[in-house]
Amino acid sequence: MAKQLKPETICVQAGWTPTKGEPRVLPIYQSTTFKYDTSEQMAKLFDLEEAGYFYTRLQNPTNDAVAAKIAALEGGVAAMLTSSGQAANFYAIFNICQAGDHFVCSSAIYGGTFNLFGVTMKKLGIEVTFISSDAPEEEIVAAFRPNTKALFGETISNPSMEILDIKKFARIAHSQGVPLIVDNTFPTPINCRPFEWGADIVVHSTTKYMDGHATAVGGAIVDSGNFDWDAYADKFPGLTTPDESYHGLTYTHAFGKGAYITKATAQLMRDLGSIPSPQNSFLLNLGLETLHLRMAQHCKNAQQVAEYLEQHEKVAWVNFSGLPGNKYYGLAQKYMPKGTCGVISFGLKGGRDVSIRFMDSLQLVAIVTHVADARTCVLHPASHTHRQLSDEQLMEAGVRPDLIRLSVGIENAEDIIADIEQALNA
Ligand SMILES: *Cc1c(COP(=O)(O)O)cnc(C)c1O
Repeated sequence: MAKQLKPETICVQAGWTPTKGEPRVLPIYQSTTFKYDTSEQMAKLFDLEEAGYFYTRLQNPTNDAVAAKIAALEGGVAAMLTSSGQAANFYAIFNICQAGDHFVCSSAIYGGTFNLFGVTMKKLGIEVTFISSDAPEEEIVAAFRPNTKALFGETISNPSMEILDIKKFARIAHSQGVPLIVDNTFPTPINCRPFEWGADIVVHSTTKYMDGHATAVGGAIVDSGNFDWDAYADKFPGLTTPDESYHGLTYTHAFGKGAYITKATAQLMRDLGSIPSPQNSFLLNLGLETLHLRMAQHCKNAQQVAEYLEQHEKVAWVNFSGLPGNKYYGLAQKYMPKGTCGVISFGLKGGRDVSIRFMDSLQLVAIVTHVADARTCVLHPASHTHRQLSDEQLMEAGVRPDLIRLSVGIENAEDIIADIEQALNA
């Protein structure tokens, strides 16, 4: 039902549709386990023959309602929540890659994802090749190998704010017989729905705009249901051949378009267990109810702040794709005509030290390791989130050493600008 509704209505209403006498608001099912009347009823659940709840590590009604809302927002067939965005990215790849496999990834990605893919997953025997998303198509295709299983990128990269040409990436992935996985954290499905441009899987750090109030760390994986795993059956044996840990069940045969998310839940979540608490999913759901209102205000405020910064004599450069001179203005207009997000990166004349002094002088705007919050916040990636990266890796990830990441909130833009002004004059 929810799929025909407009995004604003999905934000408010989808996922939980109570009937007579049930709570109007999605309840927190704070229970690890669920009761049955007969042994046989429960046995059918374990055989995946019937759908139902038995243990919250696998599924929980509060988590599922919120996952259903996010799936509806993205226009996907199914979604799974995870306890963090990191877990979502790990599961999204690990669900189709095993030791000996390889995937290709844009180098302009979140620092945590860069480490996860380049260092930790390498220890599991899964290799990644990072490419520039702006590279010509032939150059990206050349990074593919016979054992390549996925292509990955961020719609808007954190913190370098590069915009992914999703159509180009989908064309490359599909020409090589692999799915395109897109991290859609920054625009959220309010501003961009990657499935409409050919992406197959979408991942989120729900910690950011979706929650929006800095209350709960979380992640989500959404499947479009569009990738034909059976057409490349030998590439994806985990989905297309019997799972010995599940009585020889084959996910694509048993679940069709639900194969990818069912495997992620029944196998990866069962074994690795990064589930969100129902309490956190409840908080996430409250955030989602106003996502459409907040995204519009974030974008409007960010546009004003970016225009202010751009004309300021002490500002060396501003990277915000809503500015007509920006390298990514065209791609932003194409993929996100309503606006991108509230995050701006910029540098001050005088470089690193001046940037740090500026940040220390801010009063309303807070220094926090966070982004995409209702409250305006600021961070210096080279000294904070990305400090484990070498200068070379920093530049490869599109992070200049003097880069200040400003996450514009939903306060009044004049107050935000006034605080920036007094800090620039300090
Ligand atoms: C924050 C972030 C992540 C990691 O998410 P957590 O919820 O912090 O684990 C992944 N991708 C992007 C784009 C992010 O901004």
